[in-house]
Amino acid sequence: MCGIVGYIGTREAYPIIIEGLKRLEYRGYDSAGIALYDGKDLKVSKTKGKVVDLEERSEKEITKHGNVGIGHTRWATHGVPNDVNSHPHISNSGELVIIHNGIIENYESLKKELISRGYTFKSDTDTEVLINLIEDVKRQENVKLGKAVQIALNQVIGAYAIAVFDKNKPEEVVIARLGSPLAIGVGKDDFFIASDASPFLEYTKDAIYLEDEEMAIIRLHKGIKIRKIKDDSLVDPYVQKLQINLEQIEKGGFDHFMLKEIHEQPKAITDTYRGRLLRQEAIIKMAGVEDNMKKFLNADRIIIVACGTSWHAGLVAEYIFEDLARVPVEVEYASEFRYRNPIITEKDVLIAISQSGETADTLAAIKLAKSKGAFVFGVCNVVGSSIARETHAGAYTHAGPEIGVASTKAFTTQITVLTLIALRLARAKGTISSTDFRHHLLELEMIPKKVEEALKSDAHIRKISEIYKEAPNMLYLGRGYNFPVALEGALKLKEISYIHAEGYPAAEMKHGPIALIDENMPIIVIATKKGHYEKVVSNIQEIKSRKGKIIGIVTEGDVQVKELADHVIEVPETLESLSPLLTTIPLQLLSYHIAVMLGKNVDQPRNLAKSVTVE
Ligand code: GLU
Repeated sequence: MCGIVGYIGTREAYPIIIEGLKRLEYRGYDSAGIALYDGKDLKVSKTKGKVVDLEERSEKEITKHGNVGIGHTRWATHGVPNDVNSHPHISNSGELVIIHNGIIENYESLKKELISRGYTFKSDTDTEVLINLIEDVKRQENVKLGKAVQIALNQVIGAYAIAVFDKNKPEEVVIARLGSPLAIGVGKDDFFIASDASPFLEYTKDAIYLEDEEMAIIRLHKGIKIRKIKDDSLVDPYVQKLQINLEQIEKGGFDHFMLKEIHEQPKAITDTYRGRLLRQEAIIKMAGVEDNMKKFLNADRIIIVACGTSWHAGLVAEYIFEDLARVPVEVEYASEFRYRNPIITEKDVLIAISQSGETADTLAAIKLAKSKGAFVFGVCNVVGSSIARETHAGAYTHAGPEIGVASTKAFTTQITVLTLIALRLARAKGTISSTDFRHHLLELEMIPKKVEEALKSDAHIRKISEIYKEAPNMLYLGRGYNFPVALEGALKLKEISYIHAEGYPAAEMKHGPIALIDENMPIIVIATKKGHYEKVVSNIQEIKSRKGKIIGIVTEGDVQVKELADHVIEVPETLESLSPLLTTIPLQLLSYHIAVMLGKNVDQPRNLAKSVTVE
């Protein structure tokens, strides 16, 4: 998920790669490394930490000369961030070297196979498996590197951007992509390889963007050959003239990280269920759950602890767990839980949710639960984070780095992981029929496409934002699964636009908030078809008779709410339990546009921190 930089040409590769890695720093990372061919041999330096740590280390470890090299910043997915797990990785023979962004899903079975053939592994990464697979194919089939990479990749399930070279043939670098970006900068006498164009902008404006399932063999003085990985057909390289600047590249062409991350959700959700949701086999595979199934099945209840947006994801999970897996759930603010002498027993399972995995209050809640003998399971995004280390087991969200302070893709990927766990438990407990289970898998698999659909309302939402941007207050209402979404929508607005907003269960409105409603109050009502539609429609009637302005979040094709509301924003239809993954999208966009229109600092709102490491 992080950064790749490579160079092959006539200049010194080291400074180009190091500066390039620094340009990719915005993608977030936990380790960095470089491999150079110095004219005689392969030199590798790598370390946990930042690119400056790598510079310091390589100063001592390697001669920094050479015209061919590859460098990497890692965002760990398999194996904690440490020196050994950092990339580049070298094959057993010491001849082949690789950098990789992404996830090799079937690395465990490939690793077993390679071990049975005598291969050994130093790291816990999926990447080291891939480079040895390539080496194995190269030997067994007696083929060149390019062909070996191609054959190996055809055995791989997962996502990748890779760059590989052979120290015995350093005039050639092989790259390939599936699901992770990769660009080639075409210079006069040299080639640049990078996750995006930022590392080579000052050297060349000619770029080729590799498409998914393509690989390229880049040869010094000879040019580039691009092929389809699957059928080996040749692809004509399409060289484009870049007309973007550094900042635009960092934000993927979006004006803010938050907007980029909102739009990344289809991919982030796919990455979350990748390798876990196996629809064809009709199973869910999650090692952390599987290995501890007894604990989950024997649990009297599940306690979820979290803060902020993660707490809202926990609330959604409460509905899903109780509904599907029929296990009682309590959702707690970590900050309250830790100080209120809660009753915790050995028969409790505690699930702690945190994007960063460093949230101080959540960590304290984990320690407390552990001291009382509960089984503690973590759901976080940052591999090797404190929460990942402190918990007995866990599942990563694999959302990729989230830079905008207001969480977006962290929320939807947390819900995705928690849904997978709930479904897995429901299956194990027999509280879901096999037909229903399959239906859920199918619908969950379709969510990324539907999120894409929901994102198409962007321009329409911008217009609505224009109308309500000056409102001093807003109310968000939802029922059932969409009550936590109402809370999250209100939180997003507060966080980045500084407009006061409240989320409420729609039916609670008449017990208080209804007093606030007049013609100046915009009220966002989530009223999707499944769930408590008719009840919510009645709530909308109540608002209308008090002249409140209604923005309805409705299912595609809705007519009833459309007649009553001042505006509607449509989302595709899905199962009620999955609807939060869609209804939250327009709410993210609404707060984003309002904040931008008000001139607020969207990515770094005042007083807020991305990772709350203090209590
Ligand atoms: N899966 C690889 C690892 O954990 C690559 C992670 C990345 O994209 O940086 O090392």
